Amino acid sequence: MRIKELFCKRRPVFSFEIFPPKPDYPIETVYETVERLHGFRPDFISVTYGAGGSNRGRTVRIAEHIKKTYRIETMAHLTCVGHSPAELDQIIGQLKEAGIENVLALRGDPPRDRPDFEFKSDRYRYAGQLVQHLRRYDHFCIGAAAYPEGHPECETWEEDWLHLRDKVNAGVDFLVTQLFFDNRIFYHFKENLLRLGVNIPVSAGIMPVLNVNHIKRMVYLSGASIPAKLLLLFDKYEDKPEDFEKAGLEYAINQINALIRNGVEGIHLYTMNKAEQTRVIMENVDWSASPEEE
Ligand code: FAD
Repeated sequence: MRIKELFCKRRPVFSFEIFPPKPDYPIETVYETVERLHGFRPDFISVTYGAGGSNRGRTVRIAEHIKKTYRIETMAHLTCVGHSPAELDQIIGQLKEAGIENVLALRGDPPRDRPDFEFKSDRYRYAGQLVQHLRRYDHFCIGAAAYPEGHPECETWEEDWLHLRDKVNAGVDFLVTQLFFDNRIFYHFKENLLRLGVNIPVSAGIMPVLNVNHIKRMVYLSGASIPAKLLLLFDKYEDKPEDFEKAGLEYAINQINALIRNGVEGIHLYTMNKAEQTRVIMENVDWSASPEEE
């Protein structure tokens, strides 16, 4: 089923994101995670794509496996960085053959160990071009990434959102956001999308913080800002890893509950392949909370 149809049927649409294990780990390790999580019946599970790695082929295999084994809808991430249009056609062929209907069209990041990386003129430079490429197939429901705090490469948030508007106009059906820790940033982002005439469903990307090093890495990679109330957890639990994880999960649960009360269209949980922590979140979120009166 196309994910855009799910957004017409229910709110919030909730989804898990998983990633393929590194090539030297058996693919079954992620299947074990899915085995533990499928009972929550997410509306869909998305599988990331390693823009820089060598385990790209696993994305299609995992997405196909989940769809066929559990009858849960899947979305394959696809990045255009480093691929020629012909290579993209090859991967798109594999996706079609595997029965995958939903793709998250991304640019990806240039390899971190290649500071001299240059986008070749015969390759796509932006996700919007991949969206146009995918649209030619008339087969896929297309999602794209969105950044409530602006993409880190942009000088201003507005500049990024204008690019986002163009990307959406190229044929995007729904958006999934980068992680954020302050819901006010998400509401502000949504208001701005409406101001710019972007009116497609947006799923809020939520990542629980599990320890201090983890959050530092996430903030470094995503550019997300840390609100004071989250910072307080650092001081309180820095030397108590178990308490920190508990508090981090509670923070994510509160964040999701508030988003649901405010009528969010989708919740996209970055599971990091951690079944136990995902279970705690799923069992403590009030999925039935209706939006508060205006
Ligand atoms: P774009 O939409 O192309 O944006 C990239 C930058 O270019 C932005 O600063 C934008 O403002 C600017 N820009 C866009 N169009 C133009 C234009 N026409 N002219 C000038 N500037 C422009 N990475 C992976 O490698 N694999 C994954 O599976 C993966 N999954 C992700 C899932 C989600 C939900 C998110 C939010 C990110 C994911 N990423 C993934 C990371 C993503 O690849 C990086 O954030 C990347 O830097 C940008 O990708 P994008 O698709 O947002 O790019």
